[in-house]
Amino acid sequence: MSPAPLPTDLNGIRRLDRDDRLAGFRAEFELPADVIYLDGNSLGALPKAAKAIARRTVEQEWSQGLVRSWNDAGWYDMPRRLGAKVAALVGAGPDEVVMTDATGIDLFKVVAAALALRPDRDVVVMEGSNFPTNNYSVQGLIRLLGDRHQVRFVEAARLIDAITDDVAVVCLTHVHYKFGHIHDMAAITERAHTVGALTAWDVCHSAGALPVDLNGCGADFAVGCTYKYLNGGPGAPAFLFAASRHHGQAWQPLTGWWSHAEPFAFERDYRPAPGIAQMLSGTQPVLSMAVAEAGLDIAARAPIEQVRQKSMRLGDLFLALVADSCEEHGFRVACPQDAQQRGSQVSLSHPHAYSIMRALIDCGVIGDFRAPDVMRFGLTPLYLRYEDIYDAVQVLQEVMDTETWRRPEYAQRLAVT
Ligand SMILES: *Cc1c(COP(=O)(O)O)cnc(C)c1O
Repeated sequence: MSPAPLPTDLNGIRRLDRDDRLAGFRAEFELPADVIYLDGNSLGALPKAAKAIARRTVEQEWSQGLVRSWNDAGWYDMPRRLGAKVAALVGAGPDEVVMTDATGIDLFKVVAAALALRPDRDVVVMEGSNFPTNNYSVQGLIRLLGDRHQVRFVEAARLIDAITDDVAVVCLTHVHYKFGHIHDMAAITERAHTVGALTAWDVCHSAGALPVDLNGCGADFAVGCTYKYLNGGPGAPAFLFAASRHHGQAWQPLTGWWSHAEPFAFERDYRPAPGIAQMLSGTQPVLSMAVAEAGLDIAARAPIEQVRQKSMRLGDLFLALVADSCEEHGFRVACPQDAQQRGSQVSLSHPHAYSIMRALIDCGVIGDFRAPDVMRFGLTPLYLRYEDIYDAVQVLQEVMDTETWRRPEYAQRLAVT
């Protein structure tokens, strides 16, 4: 059954909010009163519960428990315990995911392990326009391995044909960070397996935003972020998935003591831990990891199909309102128009995208800019209302109609865009 057509008038939009079954989640987040936050795909909002966890972790576990808290407060088990919570959100088994390190580092580990499983092949397929840290991470790995491998950069339309029998690993981001298109994880994974290649999926822009079924798709490895749609907090550790059939088959190469078979035996020589623990390296940022649990627990209670439906409608509404009200201002839609093909964001391109985004942010509508000319608006169904989208597009129209964005200060680049 297809949903009713979207209203674009304010009364109709308010009705959507009244009928929204996810509306109650907004109260679980702390948001500034004068802001419409459309950047939860870069840094998710603060769950109120995270503040209490932060206080407890610092004031009791650290202050009073001190080193005993590694056992008593469960600090040592956190990568596994929180990994299992992430696993439930991405279609993985509880023993197939750890929460650890950063996405780029985790990608280095899983691609290294995958290459070790395909020693007679030398090609890694990647989407060149993907978030660059993924490229850099694999390029650094290849250099370390003596430049025996090469990256085959391809764009979405040509992907399937580029997956040939010289490919060791297909390393793709499920939802594109800038343009928002979704790759067909099942079809690409199947193609990879047909030619004997492995897959390493990045689900940074999918986890918590849309249904992800790593095992259902037969994925081999995956990595992802927790500070975007999972609201884990700035710099929250990433997560790493390795399908259980690959456990014990190859090493990830950052072989620290947390990935040793017996870390507290303090042996001289490395022996790999069995199972997913081999994917760890060393001591984790306990404060960040503890705080991130609040966002994971919210995600666990939010039915992902409802999240996805609302996300698609928020995006459709945004694009419809922009088409109605900003027609003459020269925006081009830089994401798929079809919600089924689009992740949880909309992207518009404009020659003055940077200045326009700066002006918008000054007016309380926070999105972000991605070079050279893209404005991104992240759609986070757990704390956005349909009316927020209406208000945001009103502000965009005003910034354009009044040419506020032409102020010289908006052309000055800040360090983080
Ligand atoms: C957000 C994001 C990252 C972030 O990497 P860090 O290691 O956390 O800096 C990596 N890859 C993609 C595709 C992303 O969207």
